[in-house]
Amino acid sequence: MALDVYQFPCLNDNYGFLIHEPVSGCTATIDTPEVEPINRALEDKGWHLTHILNTHHHFDHAGGNEALKKQWGCQVVGAANDAERIPGIDVRVVDGENLVFGKTSALVLEVPGHTSGHIAYYFAEEGQAFVGDTLFALGCGRLFEGSPQQMWTSLEKLMALPDATRVYCAHEYTQANAAFALSVEPNNPALIERAKEIDALRAKGRPTVPTTIGLERQTNPFVRPMSEEIQATVGLTGAQWVDVFAETRRRKDNF
Ligand code: ZN
Ligand code: FE
Repeated sequence: MALDVYQFPCLNDNYGFLIHEPVSGCTATIDTPEVEPINRALEDKGWHLTHILNTHHHFDHAGGNEALKKQWGCQVVGAANDAERIPGIDVRVVDGENLVFGKTSALVLEVPGHTSGHIAYYFAEEGQAFVGDTLFALGCGRLFEGSPQQMWTSLEKLMALPDATRVYCAHEYTQANAAFALSVEPNNPALIERAKEIDALRAKGRPTVPTTIGLERQTNPFVRPMSEEIQATVGLTGAQWVDVFAETRRRKDNF
């Protein structure tokens, strides 16, 4: 059974997520983009915050850690290899570790590239993944602290999850990402269709998150370096996938 997820906007274009395991009552916020909306969400749901699950150290992800920990006495979970940059960290996790969360657990995946210590939380039984700024709907995070090879390895790790996995990305960037995706793979029918759906959702002010692994595999240019059309667009026909990815990412930075 899926975890109860409550999704709400924070800051300019971040999403906050509360996850709730009903048997134990365990409730986590995925990152702490903004304290006030997180507290409002907890009040709306009548949930008591027990955990903060951090994906990475950036301010729009860990900026509310200290205040929420002080208020709720909750446990702060973050990457062991980035512990000095995760405010208030209590539980240090590593790749492949199973993090117990009430009656269920999350597999911790180290997915460096956007930051060197970025992690994702994959609830395998429930088919839900919280990926921070590593993978976006039709996009991926900027390479602030990692190499293209590192990010590509991280994206491959996520793409190995089942197609039906629901993917909760930390930002609503999808419409802008779709414009770029169409510029590098204009004849992908699934992408053309999806771009229309995204425009319709955004026109109604509705979120495009969560996405799924299967949908990203069909439409996200950053995980499609095997596409002959993308290879041709970026001038790297027949090149290594990691190089096609690197060039696609570079072009997006200047789009
Ligand atoms: Zn970030
Ligand atoms: Fe972010």
